[in-house]
Amino acid sequence: MKVGLIGLGNMGRPMAARLAAAGFPLTVWNRTPGRADAGVTVAASPRELAVASDVVITMLADAAAVRAVLGGADGVLAAGRPGTIVIDMSTVGPVAARELAAEAAAHDVTFLDAPVSGSVALAEQGTLTAMVGGPPDAVAWARPVLATLTKAQFHLGPAGAGAAMKLAVNILIAASNQAIAEALTLAESAGIHRADAYDVLANSAVASPFVSYKREAYLHPDTAPVAFAAALMRKDLDLVLSVAAPVGLPLPVASAARDYLDTACAVGYGDADFACVAELLRQHRSPAEPFRRHGG
Ligand code: NAP
Repeated sequence: MKVGLIGLGNMGRPMAARLAAAGFPLTVWNRTPGRADAGVTVAASPRELAVASDVVITMLADAAAVRAVLGGADGVLAAGRPGTIVIDMSTVGPVAARELAAEAAAHDVTFLDAPVSGSVALAEQGTLTAMVGGPPDAVAWARPVLATLTKAQFHLGPAGAGAAMKLAVNILIAASNQAIAEALTLAESAGIHRADAYDVLANSAVASPFVSYKREAYLHPDTAPVAFAAALMRKDLDLVLSVAAPVGLPLPVASAARDYLDTACAVGYGDADFACVAELLRQHRSPAEPFRRHGG
């Protein structure tokens, strides 16, 4: 099975490395050139990548980015042929996922939404969790690829089902992020050493893989590599709220987490890891106050 992967960002790069290591003939494309690992075949365009691939994975920032690489004369769908499967593993929300599936179908291409839970470390290990929406036969066909990238694949229904479930998961992730930041900074304000406090959280009743793999981001925010940008989590919470609003579902925790990330982005932390909310708390402690980076 020939695989193409579009999007060599924080997540896409380790995913490409896993596919190559597993022996899949791999072609990649990224909007900004020069991000591919040595030895990997780089296509000149998404269209050229699709010509060379049976299955095309997209791992991109948002729905606009996915539309940009699927559509147009140089896009994936321009090379669409019956049997081609696009697996979008980005977080785009169910509305966009259903639209993209319909657009793909018009080109005889099958579209699966298969966003993931887990971050860079889990992408490197192939232990992400995939939430999949789309036709069962295509899901079955794509499973060897998904199984290379993820430890579990949940097929949840037709187009959009995986994308919707991913938003549900991200409420938990965003709430955990905010809660860890608040717990950590409260302990610090009581004079407890940051690392000691984090060790307690990581061994508490709510210890989780997330608490473990975010350790460096919380302990050393200035030097830890960015795994998940604050702007991307804000995007995800905007999607959460846009899905909840039409059905009248109040989501107070998701709303609060979204507002705090909005503040983080407004004061220049959009590209920082979303654990940066702890830094904001250390600086000012109240989301209602105007924030100034580094408390200046
Ligand atoms: P990232 O590091 O910011 O990478 C984003 C990728 O999208 C880059 O390859 C970027 O290309 C590309 N891109 C952005 N806008 C584009 C456009 N208009 N046209 C073409 N390409 C475009 O993001 P990431 O952290 O890998 O996340 C990717 C997706 O996975 C997002 O939807 C995110 O919400 C989701 N996700 C992330 C994590 C995580 O922990 N990081 C976990 C689960 C899910 P350039 O290199 O040219 O900028």
